[in-house]
Amino acid sequence: MKILVGVKRVIDYEVKIRVKTDETGVETSNVKMSMNPFDEIAVEEAIRLKEAGGADEIIVVSMGEAKCQETLRTALAMGADRAIHVTTDAELQPLAVAKGFAALAKREDVNLVLLGKQAIDDDNNQSAQMLAGLLHWPQGTFASKLEFGEGKLTIIREVDGGSETLELDLPAVVSVDLRLNEPRYPTLPNIMRAKKKSLEALSPEDLSIDIAPRLKVIKVTAPPKRKAGIKLETAAELVDRLHNEAKVI
Ligand code: AMP
Repeated sequence: MKILVGVKRVIDYEVKIRVKTDETGVETSNVKMSMNPFDEIAVEEAIRLKEAGGADEIIVVSMGEAKCQETLRTALAMGADRAIHVTTDAELQPLAVAKGFAALAKREDVNLVLLGKQAIDDDNNQSAQMLAGLLHWPQGTFASKLEFGEGKLTIIREVDGGSETLELDLPAVVSVDLRLNEPRYPTLPNIMRAKKKSLEALSPEDLSIDIAPRLKVIKVTAPPKRKAGIKLETAAELVDRLHNEAKVI
């Protein structure tokens, strides 16, 4: 069994996001970048599957600028076998990402594609769903548990008020949620070993995909600043303010 895993380079989750002054997007220069946290979970799950004897090869894929290769090296240091970098400086919308993964899923003849539930930079939550649509493969989104059987995959996914269990025929596309596992940190020896693992660079043209954006971002604005709070001395004062000023009680 071969697994393709999506690894997106995004602004680190601990960084305070700043909107560009011209409102065309968010500031990414001189900002710490990391692997999308949901993708770390996807890589971890693929590695656990391989360790349990359920997978033969894990191929990690990142689409975007040259520095995505650093993120791919991290995934290789965690335990992925090889990496593919689809190199482009162009803006990538989920349809373009889905086309890239669809082309690679066929080229590499994989049995499973694991993506994150969403990229924490643009919060699209669309790539996995579009990919399953393009490939006409079954999809399981927001997986919080995966179990493999003969040619089948059982996933448990969280839904409003409970959980849902789905059985998918392979090949399939799965997007992973936070509760699935806790990703490992790469060890120093594995970081060194990862430098020797294969990292193939391809262009969108090599994959014969049209990555042109289909949506236009009009503007990006920061949320309105919150007013400073006040401290009240007594509960009676709070009730009075809620009643007479906020008029909510
Ligand atoms: P999104 O639909 O943009 O929220 O992204 C969902 C998932 O698709 C991410 O967690 C990644 O696994 C994958 N993905 C999105 N964009 C990229 C990219 N540029 N390179 C690699 N994987 C990506």
